[in-house]
Amino acid sequence: MIPFIDLKKQYRRIEKDVDLAVKKVFEHGQYILGPEVAELEKQLASMAGTRYCLACSSGTDALLMALMAMNVKPGDAVFTTPFTFFATVEMVALTGATPVFADIDPDTYNLDPSKLRETIRKVKAKGKLNPKAILVVDIFGQSADYEAIHAVAKEFGLPVIEDGAQAMGATYKGRRVPSFGLIGCTSFFPAKPLGCYGDGGAVFTDDKELYDKLFSILVHGRGSDKYDNVCIGLNARLDTVQAAVLLQKLKIFPEEIELRQKVASGYNRVLKDLVKTPSVCKDCVSVWAQYCVCSDRFEAIQAALRENDIPTARYYPIPMHLLKALNYLGYQKGDMPVAEKVSGHVFALPMHPYLEGDVIEKIGKVVRSVVK
Ligand SMILES: *Cc1c(COP(=O)(O)O)cnc(C)c1O
Repeated sequence: MIPFIDLKKQYRRIEKDVDLAVKKVFEHGQYILGPEVAELEKQLASMAGTRYCLACSSGTDALLMALMAMNVKPGDAVFTTPFTFFATVEMVALTGATPVFADIDPDTYNLDPSKLRETIRKVKAKGKLNPKAILVVDIFGQSADYEAIHAVAKEFGLPVIEDGAQAMGATYKGRRVPSFGLIGCTSFFPAKPLGCYGDGGAVFTDDKELYDKLFSILVHGRGSDKYDNVCIGLNARLDTVQAAVLLQKLKIFPEEIELRQKVASGYNRVLKDLVKTPSVCKDCVSVWAQYCVCSDRFEAIQAALRENDIPTARYYPIPMHLLKALNYLGYQKGDMPVAEKVSGHVFALPMHPYLEGDVIEKIGKVVRSVVK
């Protein structure tokens, strides 16, 4: 099997720098909130174009911190997409608030702004839940349509939280993910476009008050002093060692984003006419967290690829509203027809900056042999 995501090839490229950077942390001994964490936050904020960034322990914790900072609580409705990784919805549920789904766009798989408007209207009309926030996901590395989403948010006076876990570095109208929410979140899980060597994440904001709140939550709700706890928080810090790794990866990240474009256009070229290739809007540059295609023949294609030692993956076989863990929300099959159709047909091909041209050609040939 070729690797689905080749992290070893990347490590070979930056091996010397990473080893030195990590060793430096072992030597200086500031394992918690060491100087590398502050430097990383500075560089990430500058990349995203936000005033503040706080590194944290995972994308999941970034989401939880954002929801906690905005005081999301039982009785609140948080509007979001049914087509995402579970953590997006899981953290809303963990706060005790109610996740409310709006269906997705059939081409980008991101939240459909008109469905979002319709859904918020319905919840308001029912009057049972308090509309609190819109949690937007940038799925597979492409930013959502924020101009349209912000218009809906403004119409209802709701803040936007951005789950940019899959799309750090992507742009929408020249601006970077995750700078489109009042709070933006990202993940440094190893398989994400910008990953560390363990779990990691970050939150972004322009708002000083929210930043202070987020910092307090990051460290057990601390106030002006370590033992002056002013709210219920978490221990959600990023390790200094992971920050040191990320600083080395950031050096090659812009080039890797370019390499990802090359891989994606290679795929587009060999797969057009065979399967539904991904749609990237003209306002967007995707960072290609996943290269996902749609086909009625996906099972046969996946089997043929497997026979040729090419792994594939399904993101996401079950849309959120039909997951067992969320049964209590009372959704049924048919409630989110677009997300259900996409979940049933989409699969991902190997995607990383170092995928060779001959592998792409081979994948094209195998898919053609099934489809034609
Ligand atoms: C990966 C992911 C997360 C969670 O990030 P972790 O760092 O693994 O906790 C949240 N949302 C989305 C959309 C993701 O893809």
